[in-house]
Amino acid sequence: MILGVFYTIAAWKNKQRTKIDKNKEVLIKSCQATIRLKPNPDAFRCRNLSYFCILIHQKVQFMSVVVSQVSKVYGQQKALNNVSLSIQAGEIVGLLGPNGAGKSTLMKILSSYIPASSGTASIFGYDVQLQSVETRKHLGYLPENNPLYSDMYVREYLLFVGRIHQLGNQLMKRVDEMIHLTGLEIEMHKKIRMLSKGYKQRVGIAQALIHDPQVLILDEPTSGLDPNQLIEIRQLIKNIGQNKTVLLSTHIMQEVEALCSRVIIVNKGELVADDKMDKLSRQIAGNGLFVAFEQEVEAAALRKIPGVKGVIRQREGWLLEPQPGKDIRQEVAKWAVDQQLTIVSLSRNSLSMEESFHRLTL
Ligand code: ADP
Ligand code: MG
Repeated sequence: MILGVFYTIAAWKNKQRTKIDKNKEVLIKSCQATIRLKPNPDAFRCRNLSYFCILIHQKVQFMSVVVSQVSKVYGQQKALNNVSLSIQAGEIVGLLGPNGAGKSTLMKILSSYIPASSGTASIFGYDVQLQSVETRKHLGYLPENNPLYSDMYVREYLLFVGRIHQLGNQLMKRVDEMIHLTGLEIEMHKKIRMLSKGYKQRVGIAQALIHDPQVLILDEPTSGLDPNQLIEIRQLIKNIGQNKTVLLSTHIMQEVEALCSRVIIVNKGELVADDKMDKLSRQIAGNGLFVAFEQEVEAAALRKIPGVKGVIRQREGWLLEPQPGKDIRQEVAKWAVDQQLTIVSLSRNSLSMEESFHRLTL
């Protein structure tokens, strides 16, 4: 009897599985990826029920953004080369890279604005190319250089965008909410061209949010702002990020440090780093150990400490590079005692975000 039920369920699962389209396959992988990342009871339940999750995937969502082996070629030039990444719901992720790295290209693909040359991408489980209308319903996009209709009044423009999103009887309410959220009350009766750059950015963010999307893509949202405007817009993004998934691009390292929990670095169309902010710095620093002694010490002597691979003179001390996987702190302390040296400073070497970025995008 139990065996019979088991086989019936197995057969049913098989049948369902054949129905799963490519896009939903991505969702399964997302579920499983989430389990690897975050083994919580809900996610565990999801692994066992991943097929069921697919059937109700409109309600249960784990990965907001999934990019799988995306490349983009403009004529002879490869602007993106085999980029894969995924972003969980609720994350604020910084897409960092020098000019021409491919940030805007990736964002345009994610917002269904241009197609990828190869690979797939999805927003909330919707394929950005095959289901572009659904994608846009779940996505707010502020393009680079914030294109606005400068002859429209602020409120008029937001009503216009809201109508495009078919907000119906919610229209007025949403426009008022957006004006309040982005602090546009005193400017709402002005023409857009009369606004300062900071206020134009607020209008751009308001239009991206008007249909209450779960995912927000902001392409260089703070470029060209003065320091005060910069602080205000960053604060606004931070507030929005409390209940939305945000992917923002920038070439300013401090911006990522100020706003994001995670950073993805692209360079020449390739993804060169994807990690939590603090982890990334540590990864690049290679767990180096900075040590300074009261006495003079020779580099050659330091190289003989077991587990030390390299030695670099740094400030008033030494940066010791350990062999892969080795923690050399104890060995260094023991060696110092044996040599009758006094350690005046011992710390893990952590690179600043700026140094990390420079090393990765040379
Ligand atoms: P980023 O936003 O990181 O500065 P982009 O994604 O705008 O970089 O551009 C990546 C590369 O693709 C650049 O070398 C750029 O010149 C090129 N590129 C972007 N758009 C086009 C286009 N429409 N036609 C040809 N080349 C393009
Ligand atoms: Mg760009």
